[in-house]
Amino acid sequence: MPSTRPVVVTGVAGFIGSHLAEALLAQGCAVIGIDRRLPQADSNLADCLRHPNFTPVGADLAEVDLPPLFEGIHTVFHLAGIPGMRPSWGPDFAEYTRSNVLASQRVADACLECRVPRLVVASSSSVYGQREPGPYAESCLPAPASPYGVSKLAGEQVCLAYAAHPRSVTSVVALRYFTVYGPRQRDDMLIGRALRAALSGEPLRVYGEGSQRRDFTYISDVVAATLAAATAPAEAEVINVGGGRAVSIAEVLTTAERLTGRRVPRTHQPAYEGDVPETLADPAKAARLLGWQPEVGLADGMARQLAWLTRSAIPVEV
Ligand code: NAD
Repeated sequence: MPSTRPVVVTGVAGFIGSHLAEALLAQGCAVIGIDRRLPQADSNLADCLRHPNFTPVGADLAEVDLPPLFEGIHTVFHLAGIPGMRPSWGPDFAEYTRSNVLASQRVADACLECRVPRLVVASSSSVYGQREPGPYAESCLPAPASPYGVSKLAGEQVCLAYAAHPRSVTSVVALRYFTVYGPRQRDDMLIGRALRAALSGEPLRVYGEGSQRRDFTYISDVVAATLAAATAPAEAEVINVGGGRAVSIAEVLTTAERLTGRRVPRTHQPAYEGDVPETLADPAKAARLLGWQPEVGLADGMARQLAWLTRSAIPVEV
């Protein structure tokens, strides 16, 4: 989507945001990257920071004056947020409401003020919960099973509400990402933890029996869907980004063992509240509106993540 007008990526220092920014720069876009983890050097952004079309802005979205940053912007990709289910129970929920709900409202409000044509917002499969068995189409009634899921649902919905504002010229696409993995995956996520456990011999904590199933989605496929969302025909849409194939944690561990040639030592912990047995996308709407289907299978994606881990000599805590 090359354009003479710049685009904004929020959460740019994060796992998905940094990959998206790299892809946009490679397409010839000028990118303003906002994250509160800037301007500290962040290894995720090593390539972006060397690029002449990248402008880093260290700011907290819940506080910063956004309209001066959004003036003349073509598309805002709003990926900033506090991820993770387990810490969302208890007092930390205040931070989830601040960064996932309030920050999203402020981003949508600034898009309205600055007449930004398109807002793409990162939502999550966790909005579905487990009221009924999947696959989940976007028309399924959301029933989040964790405070995190509630905050993501509120964040996407507040952006969609802005699309319906009478003064709005901003169309909104909320992407419900299904468990994303690949190089630079967050340290708390399963696939990286499993690969690091195999490499280090440190036991992996497995929550529950390992029978939970996830619709794992490789990072380059997620970036492709997110780029397509910038130009998809839409006024206000929610779209799943998941391939429609769920894989069990046990199968992930077997694949990690095959790829590394080592055992994944493990300790079993009780399942945690809000951990649903399965996430599974119905990908039909993504195919229809984004022309998207995933290209990277689990074994191939895990092999690429392993190659990155080995190359970058990531510390081995699991
Ligand atoms: P991440 O933690 O790696 O990146 C999020 C970034 O947002 C961080 O760099 C953080 O500093 C920034 N941020 C958070 N609050 C902020 C604030 N108030 N102001 C400015 N910056 C702020 O997470 P990720 O895995 O890259 O996820 C990106 C988005 O995708 C999140 O919104 C997350 O909820 C969503 N998501 C991720 C997954 C996944 O599997 N990784 C799945 C579903 C949804």
